[in-house]
Amino acid sequence: MTTVDMRTPAALAEAERWTAHNYHPLPVVIADAEGAWVTDVDGRRYLDFLAGYSALNFGHRHPALISAAHAQLDRLTLTSRAFVHDQFAEFCRRLAQLCGKDLVLPMNTGAEAVETAIKVARKWGYRVKGVPAGQANIVVAENNFHGRTTTIVSFSTDPDARDDFGPYTPGFTIVPYGDAGALADAVDDHTVAVLLEPIQGEAGVLVPPPGYLAAVRKTCTERNVLFIADEIQSGLGRTGRTFAIEHDDVVPDMYVLGKALGGGIVPVSAVAADADVLGVLEPGQHGSTFGGNPLACAVGTEVVKLLESGTFQQRSAALGEQLHAGLSALIGHGVMAVRGRGLWAGVDIDPALLTGRQACERLAQRGVLAKDTHGSTIRLAPPLVVTEADLGQALAAVKAVLDEARAG
Ligand SMILES: *Cc1c(COP(=O)(O)O)cnc(C)c1O
Repeated sequence: MTTVDMRTPAALAEAERWTAHNYHPLPVVIADAEGAWVTDVDGRRYLDFLAGYSALNFGHRHPALISAAHAQLDRLTLTSRAFVHDQFAEFCRRLAQLCGKDLVLPMNTGAEAVETAIKVARKWGYRVKGVPAGQANIVVAENNFHGRTTTIVSFSTDPDARDDFGPYTPGFTIVPYGDAGALADAVDDHTVAVLLEPIQGEAGVLVPPPGYLAAVRKTCTERNVLFIADEIQSGLGRTGRTFAIEHDDVVPDMYVLGKALGGGIVPVSAVAADADVLGVLEPGQHGSTFGGNPLACAVGTEVVKLLESGTFQQRSAALGEQLHAGLSALIGHGVMAVRGRGLWAGVDIDPALLTGRQACERLAQRGVLAKDTHGSTIRLAPPLVVTEADLGQALAAVKAVLDEARAG
């Protein structure tokens, strides 16, 4: 091989020198990107099979999203919510309609949208359900990932995410994921909400057992509890439907959205719910300087338009079959198990062969960027614009990495 690293080692060292070490990135320094492909500072190309943890569902620099952003940059970028701007209503209307809900509340990051859902659920509990002041509790699942704020890490079961960040916010009950009976038992008269990921992403793309989400819905309805679906990573086309929870024919009371809602350009998040829920908020009780800003709304509107066509959901469903068939064929050849839906897969690699981290390093050397979750599990989530040929190339790289590890 005549290829020599040119700028990569220096750029990695410089990045490491000037930042807190709260990430352990793969040794790749990306300079530009288009669609499902990125190019590093030395001109090497990679298939992006992480897609910004699903923030890049429409690929890097989707032309419709980029042109909406450019047009908005030339007109108006920020007003604050002290004034209304001309992009606000269309974004909120289209997103509410996509969700089949009365109202939306736009924020910026996923964690802020989760915090918003928690605050709304508590207020709803006190004002509508009649829970005694300060007594509201929310049922959540083990191995959840809902973000990084102090309240959210209070109910994380991941020691890395939680330890040393206390004192913790009370008011959360943790139950095993996928066990509808345990969840029903945890609900009491002070429970205001159940907060779940319809598929647990960070936990390793865990799909709950059939009937689980429907049983949770039934419990919530019977006990007058809000069902909050955190679709930040699973939603907006990733699983072959607009929302992952649709696979179970379940409608939650509140959707929490983020990641792909910003089109890979700006952070855009939101909660969507009916007026009897989101209507509990009055002026001054919640807000965000940047939430629902003109640039975010212009991009977000274009994102919703892309989803309204249904083509991305269809692509994810169809290409997801190719992805899952290809990965399932590797079971027994270095792969222990494959989970997921659509263009989203958690792949358990034989821990005797490779850690997830090692697998991702070797995949990167073969031109595919992916991310380990825990132990020997890796997550594959390409942009929904990925082609059949790209998928074939990535699957061949996974097979080559496993074959090499098994031979060595
Ligand atoms: C990424 C993620 C979040 C947090 O979103 P941020 O934008 O990083 O704050 C919350 N929930 C789920 C399911 C996520 O995947």
